[in-house]
Amino acid sequence: MANFVCQICGRGFKSYNENAKYCSQSCKGTAYIKYELKKCEQCGKKYKPRKADSKYCSLDCSNKGRKNRKGTCRVDLDEEIPSG
Ligand SMILES: [Zn+2]
Ligand SMILES: [Zn+2]
Repeated sequence: MANFVCQICGRGFKSYNENAKYCSQSCKGTAYIKYELKKCEQCGKKYKPRKADSKYCSLDCSNKGRKNRKGTCRVDLDEEIPSG
């Protein structure tokens, strides 16, 4: 039995489950709603976020998204891709 802090209501609780995160079924339900499927801001794919504030489906998209948003300078290609 170990002590945990509920990730939803912040209350302390005890559980036999090493991975316990929520004090009750109701908090578990809240968590499910809170962390329901999100749309990736980079590729538009729906995914299940691990954090409430996550914006991207994967590390890859996260890296791309951040690059796009940040610099105004683009990477210039040395040669143009021929069309056709
Ligand atoms: Zn709770
Ligand atoms: Zn994505």
